[in-house]
Amino acid sequence: MEKLKIGILGATGIVGQNYIKLLQGHPWFEVVDVAASPRSAGKPYEEAAGPKWQMPIPIPENIKGLIVRDVQDFDSIPEDLSFVFSAINMPTKDQIREVEFKYAKNNIPVVSNNSAHRWTPDVPMIIGEVNNEHSEVIPIQQKKRGFSKGFVAVKPNCSIQSYVTPIYALEKAGYKVDKIITTTLQAVSGAGYPGVPSLDMVDNIVPYIGGEEEKSEKEPLKIFGKVAEDGIVNDDSIEISATTTRVPVTDGHTAVLNVKFKDSIPEINEIIDIWTEFKSVPQELDLPFAPKQPIIYLYGDNRPQPRKDRDNDKGMAVTVGRLREDNVFDIKFVGLSHNTIRGAAGGAILNAELLKTKGFIK
Ligand code: NAP
Repeated sequence: MEKLKIGILGATGIVGQNYIKLLQGHPWFEVVDVAASPRSAGKPYEEAAGPKWQMPIPIPENIKGLIVRDVQDFDSIPEDLSFVFSAINMPTKDQIREVEFKYAKNNIPVVSNNSAHRWTPDVPMIIGEVNNEHSEVIPIQQKKRGFSKGFVAVKPNCSIQSYVTPIYALEKAGYKVDKIITTTLQAVSGAGYPGVPSLDMVDNIVPYIGGEEEKSEKEPLKIFGKVAEDGIVNDDSIEISATTTRVPVTDGHTAVLNVKFKDSIPEINEIIDIWTEFKSVPQELDLPFAPKQPIIYLYGDNRPQPRKDRDNDKGMAVTVGRLREDNVFDIKFVGLSHNTIRGAAGGAILNAELLKTKGFIK
């Protein structure tokens, strides 16, 4: 099969670099175009990204010499591009919304990591194992905005990946969740490069990440929502309260959760069975980036740990542990997922694979 030619917007950043690493040897997609800010535009990728390259492999040979485009130079978009991954950071969300919609208007589907369009009702926010059917909103978006082949689809915030799939698996098994209290312990790579100053992070914890608590509380409600005539209608059956913190870990966001059910409460062993047996559409379709087992349960009292467990199933699995009864709510547990893989580039690659399989990306 001839590979689809694809581009990366924000290719020089942390998430952009992860795309370049993860897409090496991808069976369906080949990176032929890299774009970033005007600071990087016009330079070979190696010169633009080299000083801030954070990946544990050298910059791949086929990428080094690509000339970085200015993200906003729409006339220079290669004609044979099938779609782009967007990992741009710009001063305002309005600018990002505009840039992503302009690519869509130029017939280029955009699979985005950015939060700018997460609250646009006709833009799907997808976790492959949970709400792949939200792609049904794409034709509504295209009609409403006059796009023909282009569209924008996003993935949710990295902080919620470690608990949305386990919670969804319980709901799907018939155990309706009523309330969640969560505290996240988020890695420094989540802030991009150069990110949080080292003097704030070494020997320290920062108990606040701007905008992150709101995302952790609200994004799951769109993901659990339904496709309606004009877009996604959010779920309103679960209440979530989140505290988000930055901890001195390089990669891997951990979340501590206390969960209250609406009606019946599953037994601890039954929950572990529900999680370990959980499979969904990406596994049924055997997509290249689908983890074989999306939720891995570890029995040890001291797991999951970011350094030991973030790379499970190439960083695409959610690892949970410490499940036990809760004195105040019903159960409590700890979840972990790799923020720049499952929570960013890897999760978006899985979304693109789903969208291609469904015929939205050609
Ligand atoms: P980053 O390391 O700061 O990289 C930002 C990228 O955006 C760079 O390629 C940069 O290009 C480009 N950029 C900056 N200003 C621009 C402008 N005015 N016009 C066009 N491009 C511009 O950030 P990151 O961590 O990779 O995150 C990228 C996006 O993914 C953000 O929206 C972030 O919220 C989201 N995200 C990140 C994570 C994570 O774990 N890191 C997880 C999920 C989602 P230059 O190199 O030329 O400046």
